Amino acid sequence: MKILVVDDTRTSLLVISQYVERLGATAIQADCGERAIEVFQAEKPDLVLLDIILPDLDGFAVAHRLRALEVNGGWTPIIFLSSLNRDEDIERGIAAGGDDYLSKPISEVVLGAKIRAMQRIIQMRTSLVVLARKLDSANQELKRLSAIDGLTGISNRRLFDDFIAREWRRARRAECSVALMMCDVDHFKRFNDTYGHQAGDDCLRQVASAIQSVMDRASDIVARYGGEEFVVVLPETSIGGALFVAEKIRHAVHALNIPHAESPQGRVTLSIGIANHVPVENENPEILISAADRALYQAKHDGRDRVCRCAPLLCH
Ligand code: GH3
Ligand code: MG
Ligand code: MG
Repeated sequence: MKILVVDDTRTSLLVISQYVERLGATAIQADCGERAIEVFQAEKPDLVLLDIILPDLDGFAVAHRLRALEVNGGWTPIIFLSSLNRDEDIERGIAAGGDDYLSKPISEVVLGAKIRAMQRIIQMRTSLVVLARKLDSANQELKRLSAIDGLTGISNRRLFDDFIAREWRRARRAECSVALMMCDVDHFKRFNDTYGHQAGDDCLRQVASAIQSVMDRASDIVARYGGEEFVVVLPETSIGGALFVAEKIRHAVHALNIPHAESPQGRVTLSIGIANHVPVENENPEILISAADRALYQAKHDGRDRVCRCAPLLCH
């Protein structure tokens, strides 16, 4: 333990430093306020024993400055040492950022006891800081996990709901278009019935990563909307741009070449409905989602394995 002893009287400085060394700690010394602040910064002591009457700054001002130097929740205990021992002096010392007060002449036994008490507080505080850090990283991990779909590892519905709400407000302020697509695996019930539920799960994982592999803008997201449906949001994208991405997604799923004997295509395919819109006041994202849903219904109706865009009513 490193203890900074601040006293302008040479004898006091030596005697207190001796006490400190006898306790098994290392004493570092300063004989005025400015020097104390310099040494504090350079040596980062674990505790400060601070005289109040100093030739330049008084101990209260030094304590104030030391507290201001502590960053990132750091804390170094400060014990005032002084022959000023009126109630007001003690009160002022604590108010200036001190943690305890010892009257001069200093008793070696009392000094030792107070230093041990402070050590105990430092230890408890350190364990609390460690715990708080662990809690913080556990919370971050929890937050990450709560946004992820357990089966496919892509974003889940919850993240999508937050994302679209935020993106919608941003697009309204910036007066720009948001494109959204609903992708649904074709004849997936038959796929499960033919190949089993586990093969179905595996298929969904492959489809999710194929969709993700196609999207290359950091601002775009794909989320599992539910069951065998995936939703893709493309901020600041025109209907033309969205059609282009949708076709790339459809081809990527084709290229997976997952056999599907019960589908007319003979392999797993996707139907995609897309919509885009420049949001205005009092509109909510549900209109975009249901427009994309209508387009998806159209794609299914027209024979599946295709991309359809929403009715022009909503499209810009
Ligand atoms: P369509 O071409 O019209 O979309 O037909 P479909 O069979 O894909 O659509 P439907 O909604 O009738 O069936 C969806 C199927 O998706 C039914 C359900 O068992 C399956 N499914 C939903 N979620 C999961 C899942 O997490 N894993 C597996 N293996 N199957 C799922
Ligand atoms: Mg479906
Ligand atoms: Mg389906």
